[in-house]
Amino acid sequence: MNKWEELDKKYIWHPFTQMKGWVENPQLVIDHGEGVKLYDTDGREYLDAISSLWVNIHGHNRKEINDAIIAQLGKIEHSTLLGLINEPSAELAERLVQVTPEGINKVFYVDDGATAVEAALKIAFQYWQYKGKPEKQTFINLGDSYHGDTIGAVSVGNVAVFHKAYSPLLFKTHRVSCPSYYHTTLPVKNEKEFVDTLLKELEDYLKEHADTTAAMIIEPLCQCAAGMLMQPKGYIRGIRDLTKKYNVLLIVDEVAVGFGRTGLLWACDHEGVKPDMMCLSKGISAGYLPLGATMVTDEIYNAFLGEPTEYKTFYHGHSYTGNNLCCAAGLASLDIFQKDHVIENLPPKMEVIRQHFATLNAMEFVGDARQCGMLGGIELMADKAGKVPFDAALQMGGGICQNARKYGLIIRNIGDVIVFMPPLCSTVDEIDAMLSRLEQSMEEIFAEVRSKDIKSFSDPCTF
Ligand SMILES: *Cc1c(COP(=O)(O)O)cnc(C)c1O
Repeated sequence: MNKWEELDKKYIWHPFTQMKGWVENPQLVIDHGEGVKLYDTDGREYLDAISSLWVNIHGHNRKEINDAIIAQLGKIEHSTLLGLINEPSAELAERLVQVTPEGINKVFYVDDGATAVEAALKIAFQYWQYKGKPEKQTFINLGDSYHGDTIGAVSVGNVAVFHKAYSPLLFKTHRVSCPSYYHTTLPVKNEKEFVDTLLKELEDYLKEHADTTAAMIIEPLCQCAAGMLMQPKGYIRGIRDLTKKYNVLLIVDEVAVGFGRTGLLWACDHEGVKPDMMCLSKGISAGYLPLGATMVTDEIYNAFLGEPTEYKTFYHGHSYTGNNLCCAAGLASLDIFQKDHVIENLPPKMEVIRQHFATLNAMEFVGDARQCGMLGGIELMADKAGKVPFDAALQMGGGICQNARKYGLIIRNIGDVIVFMPPLCSTVDEIDAMLSRLEQSMEEIFAEVRSKDIKSFSDPCTF
């Protein structure tokens, strides 16, 4: 064990990590990165197939972004947005408004995804008080939604493993069925019928309760943290139409799916959805620095305008709101999107993923390998025809991901769903290598499943 592993195990409490297993097992210490590669302190090389937990876009140690941050450091590291303006936050706001869906015209900066959601919920709640409808107070959320780990975000989330301990602390929401066809328990024959059923369920609720509903919040196209649950075509369009019809705000959480992950810059773009609010983070600084944004329409922003003594101010902010370095990184990232034609270059990359996923879907213990652009989820099943999951004690997902390190691949599971989310800059060859390494690891673990009486693949660190 090297010095850093010792220090870490002595002092650090890791996120989403069972620390008992963590301290008992050998762990990697990352020393540096270059492009889609990570290097540990022993000099071993790994491909980063999860974009350093869904944030990296243009690769590690990217010169243009490094230079932008260094240039900004030469001027100033941070100045507050409470009472002052700074250059990079002003420029980034303009650029974000230019690239987000029509109607989204104002930027409220926050620190991360959870705070982007917190701010959106508070804005929606307060907005109706200024519109003379203070009774509009509740929120509609999706089954299996994840919006971050602060209490407001957890209230509109409901991934049982993460959230059930806090249930007495949370405000109540109305939850509609999870829009994942593979997982539905509704008696529907096809995806079209599934969408119609979901939208009817929503409309039935809105007919009765729109008067007391402030907003609906969704993760569009793919609910990532729930286990890469993908939504059928026409679903988000239908949600937008219904929320508009019944005068309920639509908050779109693009924290995970935004900045190109779905193959277009925004998930909303696939169905021409114009939300009332958009939550952004993760990819916003290309994986460099923590930054988030809650973006809103003029209609919402204008509702908060008034004299100081009307007390219509949005009383919310964070110490590092609009931080100069973070915004400089965000600007440099948007420049790369343009200069490298990042979105235009995605189709051949998505095609390699499609081909590998066809192979994966043919594997014995793969229940469903699903893809949405550059996002992928590989769900393991003990019996794929019967959709019978593996015994959780086996730790199949964790076992495969842990085993993949031996082949030079960093990838992570959510239970028995393996998440594939490569940086957008990954080349076709790099994506091919990532998925080939994953398949190797899977074959090896599957062979053990077939041949032996295995109790656990022992990745005791995840959940
Ligand atoms: C990661 C995530 C969040 C929370 O973002 P943090 O920066 O981790 O607080 C919120 N919503 C979605 C959809 C996410 O994937």
